[in-house]
Amino acid sequence: MPELPDVEVFKRYVDSTSLHQNIDTIEVKDKRILRNASARELERDLKGSKFESSKRHGKYLFVELGSGGWLLLHFGMTGSLQYYKNAEDEPPHARFVITFANGYHLAFDDQRMFGKVDLIGDPDSFVESENLGPDPLALDFPGFRERLEGKRGAIKATLMNQSVLVGIGNIYSDEILFQARIHPDTRAVELDEEALKRLFDETQRVLHEAIEHGADPGDLPDSFLLPRRREGEECPRSNGKIKKIKAAGRTAYYCPACQPKK
Ligand SMILES: [Zn+2]
Repeated sequence: MPELPDVEVFKRYVDSTSLHQNIDTIEVKDKRILRNASARELERDLKGSKFESSKRHGKYLFVELGSGGWLLLHFGMTGSLQYYKNAEDEPPHARFVITFANGYHLAFDDQRMFGKVDLIGDPDSFVESENLGPDPLALDFPGFRERLEGKRGAIKATLMNQSVLVGIGNIYSDEILFQARIHPDTRAVELDEEALKRLFDETQRVLHEAIEHGADPGDLPDSFLLPRRREGEECPRSNGKIKKIKAAGRTAYYCPACQPKK
């Protein structure tokens, strides 16, 4: 499922392929991908316009339209983008396809259809109306600490709570907690200042490192958990075996030796 690093990679992909080109046509190939806007409204706002810039907030990507307003892309479980020239290179689950005046296409591909496409007025109002927390990469330590302060739930669930912080999901919460050496069931309110600082530092480092590696968990350095996130695998620190437990209604992977329960 795309998390913050994946969506940052999509943002850079849009920036490097699709900005400042005239949009010739759009095609909604499956209407289930639409959130509120109709296919007709998308056509009205996009056709003849251009993408001027893009912004990311957590797992949400916003693309600014020259005609005013923004295109919203949310990648759900299996969403991705593909820029290509020849029709035969269209990805197999393209749901929404934009064709530029230069003959190239940008497709929103989404096999399982939990992704969404929409038109919104502006990103800040959208973030507020959806009650989304701040993007963790936009926070300094005091801001991060303030988000977690007094939270009584387990830290893994708190990191994944999109009204606390936006963009961290099941995969990267495991990595962040492994790097910070915190058990996933630890209650956020039990973390002392030193543990919170470690958690903040590792959140920044893990997300930046993942972006640098193209958001491919398997491509992360050997000191990371994600390339071997399977039960019974040797811990990257060679002090035990990776275990899985249910946490926050999801499967958490962690090392009992590195992340002891307090
Ligand atoms: Zn370990």
